[in-house]
Amino acid sequence: MKKLISILLILSMVLGMAGCSNEPAGNTEEEAQVEAMFTPGTYEGEAEGFHGTIKATVTVSETEITDLQVVHTETEGLGDKAIESIVIDIKENTSLGVPVVSGATYSSEGILKAVEAALEKAGADVQALKEKTVAGDEEVKGDIEKTADVVVIGGGGAGLAAAISAHQNGASVILIEKMPRLGGNTIISGSAYNSADPELQSGLEMTDLEKQTVESYISREESDPAVKEWQETLAAEWEEYKASGSTNLFDSPTLHKLQTYYGGDGKGSTELIDIFAENTLPSIKWLEDMGMEFKDYVFTVLGGLWNRAHKPEKPLGTGFVDTYTNYIEENSSDIEVLLDTKAVSFIVEDGAVTGVNAEGKNGAVTLYANNGVVLATGGFGANVEMREQYNTLWPSLANIKTTNHTGATGDGIVMSQEINASITGMEDIQLLPMGDPETGSLSGNIEQGVQNRIFVNKDGNRFVDEGSRRDVMTKALMEQTDSFMWVIVDKHSYPTGDTVNNFNESIDGLVEAGRAFKADSLEELAKQIGVDPENLVKAVNDFNAAVDGTMEDSFGRTLFADKLDTAPFYAGARVPTVHHTMGGVVITENAQMVDGNGVVIKGLYAAGEVTGGIHGTNRLGGNALAEITVFGRIAGESAALGK
Ligand code: ADP
Repeated sequence: MKKLISILLILSMVLGMAGCSNEPAGNTEEEAQVEAMFTPGTYEGEAEGFHGTIKATVTVSETEITDLQVVHTETEGLGDKAIESIVIDIKENTSLGVPVVSGATYSSEGILKAVEAALEKAGADVQALKEKTVAGDEEVKGDIEKTADVVVIGGGGAGLAAAISAHQNGASVILIEKMPRLGGNTIISGSAYNSADPELQSGLEMTDLEKQTVESYISREESDPAVKEWQETLAAEWEEYKASGSTNLFDSPTLHKLQTYYGGDGKGSTELIDIFAENTLPSIKWLEDMGMEFKDYVFTVLGGLWNRAHKPEKPLGTGFVDTYTNYIEENSSDIEVLLDTKAVSFIVEDGAVTGVNAEGKNGAVTLYANNGVVLATGGFGANVEMREQYNTLWPSLANIKTTNHTGATGDGIVMSQEINASITGMEDIQLLPMGDPETGSLSGNIEQGVQNRIFVNKDGNRFVDEGSRRDVMTKALMEQTDSFMWVIVDKHSYPTGDTVNNFNESIDGLVEAGRAFKADSLEELAKQIGVDPENLVKAVNDFNAAVDGTMEDSFGRTLFADKLDTAPFYAGARVPTVHHTMGGVVITENAQMVDGNGVVIKGLYAAGEVTGGIHGTNRLGGNALAEITVFGRIAGESAALGK
């Protein structure tokens, strides 16, 4: 487990001293003529970063920042790079108009706000300091026109995988990203990656309830020939497993296919699910070959239904994005990345897509692709209008917050509709029952895996099988008072106070910040969170009896590990939040896009959340990162080879 890092960056007074030594002698008159910008002294300011408060201590002379110290608890990989480079930029330029650091927008903005708060106290004209802009390296000047073999639109997990895969297949690549950073939703995801993996699953015991689950998939009534074939394969694998006498958790790509298919109510394309589940493990190896590291265990992620989620060593999605950006840096002569560059339409010639029209920060960007364009712009979870336009499954989503980054606005879907591309499943919008009540984000979520936690409502009562599908849990949550619940865990999830969650936040830190509650008894915890202690104790006792197998779980839950019986007990508040949009553009097995008649659109490929047709009505937790990697690779290869 990585610890929350607390970095103290102290920049010395070197600049000030160097300034003195560089000044020509006898310059005092000139200095005196410079208008004073600050009241000299040392000032402090605070602002919220991605994961907590950022504190800036700024020392100013009359005309410049001479020292800047920043203390933060930002996530390693998301925050530390920002702090190093933006602190230097702010100080060296005495400016608040410095560019935010790509890959660390939230942290960059937090630092700028903290410094601004400090400078206000120094009497600074903050607006003037913001207008003192400093150009970033990536800034594109004027209209530009470029050509590459493959043009990728969108720099999240799917687009980055596609760019690299295209390069590995001999293509030169230009990737455009509308935001000032790479990563999209991928970098802020919990980053669970589902794959059957005999090596990592070998230490896990199989329970009787899990055996029944496998058998239930085999015996389901089915008419679709492809699904029937999966059932037959699973039956054969299951017989082989039983004959082996193994007590290990059973898993296989076939079980993963059936769970993905039924988890989405049989609406997903069996062809795409086949390719997906067969390629999750090879794609982990592909990532590992590029240097990405995963933890040596798997877990069951929220709504993942099975213990097969891999967890990267680095927090959130930074492991994926760092791996890809390292590759791109090493191959920068063949892969160009243009940030702040938003695709607006496809260039179509004789029915084939040959390029992309985009808007850069400083003008039009026209990109031509010799071999193919890959669309990887992600979903539309952050576009309230589009949610309202397509939503049929949920009550209005207008006022529901989202886990998504602000760039998840469905641009690629709109662009595709303009060229009559086929779109599917737009009404299938996924909500999680796991949003932070303030922000809707996944941060602050205290669950560590499905097996070891329960949900209770404001009365302290359980209300759902906490191991079930995401849509099932969210619908049940919406029926509770204020659509509000508490996640309850115990010491099994947090053996020590500095144990961190998926978002690299320590439980002690969350308790300190008032985002989680901690108590030595359930009664005391109930008091703290304002629920009926008797109900909470009963909910936990009943759950513990189901773990023991002495009582059937009232909600039909099948995924258990430890009892909730060891203090300290913890509670964290959660509400519904918009998370993923399963609908999008239709693709073939080669990730080619098709038109309304099902005819392939030459030159156009797609991967990731912008596509539809794989997950059906409900995506399994842990399937997104796996899917965007698998199909990102395929799209990149297909585009490079002009398949
Ligand atoms: P996926 O998981 O499918 O990769 P992400 O949300 O991680 O989805 O990444 C999608 C990326 O595409 C985001 O970084 C987003 O900012 C970017 N994007 C969205 N629309 C455009 C656009 N019009 N032009 C360029 N990039 C875009």
